[in-house]
Order: sequence, then C-alpha cells, then structure tokens
Amino acid sequence: MKKPHVVIVGAGFGGVYTAQHLVPYVKKGLIDVTIINQTNYFLFTPLLHEVATGGLSGRSVTESIRHIFAGTGVLFHQGTVESVDIKKRELVVDGKHMSYDYVVLATGAVTNFYGIKGAKEHSLVLKNLSDAVEIRERIIDAFEDTSSVDIAEKRKKDLTFVVVGGGATGVEMAAEMAEFIDMLYSRYFDGASTIQKDDISIHLINMGAEVLSMLDQTLRIKAARRLEALGVTLHMNTSVTEVTSDRVTLSDGSSIDTSFVFWAGGIMPISPACISSSEPVCIGGKFVVDTFLRMKGEMDVFVLGDTACVETPDNKGYPALAQIAVRQAKIVAYNIMASLGHQPLRVFSYVVRGTLVSLGQWYAIGQVFGMTFSGKIMWWVWRTVYLFNFHSWVKRFKIAFEWTEGLFTSRDITKLR
Ligand SMILES: Cc1cc2nc3c(=O)[nH]c(=O)nc-3n(C[C@H](O)[C@H](O)[C@H](O)COP(=O)(O)OP(=O)(O)OC[C@H]3O[C@@H](n4cnc5c(N)ncnc54)[C@H](O)[C@@H]3O)c2cc1C
Repeated sequence: MKKPHVVIVGAGFGGVYTAQHLVPYVKKGLIDVTIINQTNYFLFTPLLHEVATGGLSGRSVTESIRHIFAGTGVLFHQGTVESVDIKKRELVVDGKHMSYDYVVLATGAVTNFYGIKGAKEHSLVLKNLSDAVEIRERIIDAFEDTSSVDIAEKRKKDLTFVVVGGGATGVEMAAEMAEFIDMLYSRYFDGASTIQKDDISIHLINMGAEVLSMLDQTLRIKAARRLEALGVTLHMNTSVTEVTSDRVTLSDGSSIDTSFVFWAGGIMPISPACISSSEPVCIGGKFVVDTFLRMKGEMDVFVLGDTACVETPDNKGYPALAQIAVRQAKIVAYNIMASLGHQPLRVFSYVVRGTLVSLGQWYAIGQVFGMTFSGKIMWWVWRTVYLFNFHSWVKRFKIAFEWTEGLFTSRDITKLR
C-alpha cells in the first residue's frame, strides 16, 4: 500500500528538525518523507557573523543535509520549490511535479529593506553563506585598496563601515567587525601602508533609542557601552532615508560617506507566493497558521519558523528565532502523525527561555529565565549552547577546534575570490 508522503520545503531549523522528529515513523515504514532545499546543506545562521569576520570558516557553519539524514530513510532533493497547489496536493520543484499528502513549509525569511531608496541595491546582507564571504572580502578589500592612497578624504570614505539595525544581528556584527578591523589595521596595515587609525570608523544606525530592545535595560546599556569601547559610533533614534553607492543619508538630515553598508534592519518571510489557495492566507507576507501550526483553513499544510504567523491571544505572534522554529518542528511532526492516526492534535505555545548575544571575543550578554548575565562566562556559555545545536559530534569538534585555534592565532585574511 502507498505510504502517506510528507514533503518538507526548506532545510533550515524548522525543516531539518521536523524531518528528524519524523525519522522514527519513516523507519517503522509508516510514512515517506522528502525534504527539499535550495542548497545541499543546513546553514547554522547564528554563527554566520563569525564567518563574515574571519573567525570561522564557511564550512564550519554548514552541515550536509544528506549526511544528517544518512541511513534514516528520509529522502533529500536539492532544488527550489516554485509553486504549491494546495487543492491538487502537488508542488513544482524546478519544473518537476511532486505530489504530497502533507506539506510542511519552512522556507524562512529574507532581508526587508522597507522600500528605502537604494538600500537593496547598495547594501550587504547576512542571510546565507555567500553573503558572509562577500562581507569578509569587502572588508579586506577596503584595506587592500586603500593601503597606498595618499588622499586622507578618500581613505576615510573607503574605511567607513556602516551597520544598519540595532537588533541582535546588527549588534553582533558591529562588535565582530570592530575587532576584525582593529586586528587588520594593527597587525597588517599600521606602519605598512598609508592608512592612519583615524581614517577608520564604524557606525551603527538604530531607529530606537537603545540597541537590543528585546533585552532588559541593564543589558541594553552594557551592550551600548561595549560597542562604544570597541570604537563603534552609535546613532540612536536615527533611521536611514537613502543609500547610494557612496553615501548613507540619515533621518536627522546628516549623511555618512561610505561604500560599505551592512543592512540588518529587518526581515520578511519567504512565502512561495505562487501558493494557490482560496483562503486569504498571508499577513505581512507570513502564512497565518492556527495553534496546531496548520495553514489557516488547510488540514494538510503545516507552516513553521520565520514564515509562520501563529495566532496568539495577544496577536503578537512569535519572534523570528531558531529556538522557536526548533520547538515548532516537534509539534508539526507530532501533529502530522496525529492527523494520520485521527488523534487529537497538540497546541503550540512557547515562552522564549533565553536570549544570548555575543559582543566580540570574550564578552556576551544574556537574559535567561528573566535573569541577566554578562561577561566572559556568558560568552563561554554562548559558545557552548551554540556548539550543542549542531547535529553531529564531528561538526562540534571541528568548531571547538577552530574556536580554540582562533584564541591563539589571528583571523584569516586570505581572499577567496
Ligand atoms: C545572521 C543571523 C543570525 C541569527 N542569529 C540567531 C540567534 O542567535 N538565535 C536565534 O534563535 N535565531 C537567530 N537567527 C534567526 C534564525 O536563523 C531563524 O529564526 C531560523 O533560521 C528560522 O528557521 P526557518 O526554518 O524558518 O528558516 P531558515 O533556517 O532560514 O531555513 C529556510 C530554508 O528554506 C530554504 N528555502 C527557501 N525557499 C525555498 C524554496 N522555494 N525551495 C526550497 N528551499 C527553500 C532556504 O534555502 C533555507 O535553507 C539568526 C538569523 C540570521 C540571518
């Protein structure tokens, strides 16, 4: 007899963990599971900023999807899902049709530029591995290309780095960039080029009054102080109104001459817009799902992670975090099997247990169960927590080795392109 076919679109945190929870049922021969992803690897996004600043190699933050599911019976298909036809229970992957009994949409999010003029065209983002590699190369290029420039104004413009967004991604990147840039200058360019220390500047632009608005105020203040100590100039209560190839214009009327703008201003979900459904399923690009994580009005379509908008009593939904996607994955897998067995489904409800933010080497801040922590021990905890979120021990050992090596050696500045 034909087994029910579960197709999971997206092999990020939501997709991979859902498939892992379904493995026992695949092994028992109860269902077939296919996972589809654009790349053939799972990307550990929380450590991408370390790749962008030479702390980790790209290989460290990726895990082969085939390796994760080797021997489990879960099938992997590398490709892009172009459309999902809910009525026909069919999706199209790179022109080929695939039928399903249950589909799980875990396609994640992309950067949101909020329609700000020039932002999309002239900003760097950090969503995938190639973004991280590009940022690293652009920072190194800025130094290499300026190393023999005699005109101070030109050096200043080329060595001005702007980070937009005071959330976790913007703050972690600004701190790592500050340390990377300081290392580049003091170790390789000071005295060996025309570059002077005061040619270099890093700016963080934030719309709110403080960075990391989701954390307790004591931590927000500590984060701001740490960034300033690392040499980052903070522009609070300020938004970007335009980005060009050589300038960022700010809401207070001022502007910063730069050709390096890193945008961490927000995200918007990737909802395969081509989905065909009679229901109005999207709010702000996110699929509205019920508390069982089923797309509203659809019994066999589950959505989770950054692309899901879960109905909550306060209508606030959940933040776009890996820990949310991972928790939702367990419920989605359970509910698929419960639906198949005509059993009651489980409701998803979750309170964020903790948030950890690294601020360069040897310093992190964290809020865990309402308590606040900061400093070296927190940084060690931050690293340990992330290490144990990788799927294989081999990967954990490799990263632990790279991190240990990084404590004694300088960051890698070889260009790959
Ligand atoms: C730089 C950065 C740092 C972060 N740091 C943290 C952190 O410290 N802690 C935390 O909790 N969260 C963090 N996040 C957020 C976290 O990464 C996301 O919340 C989480 O990845 C969401 O999981 P997801 O499964 O919804 O999407 P993703 O993990 O983004 O996975 C989506 C997958 O779907 C694939 N895909 C998309 N469209 C298609 C398609 N049409 N066909 C096939 N495949 C497709 C993509 O290639 C991708 O592999 C960070 C995010 C970024 C970008």
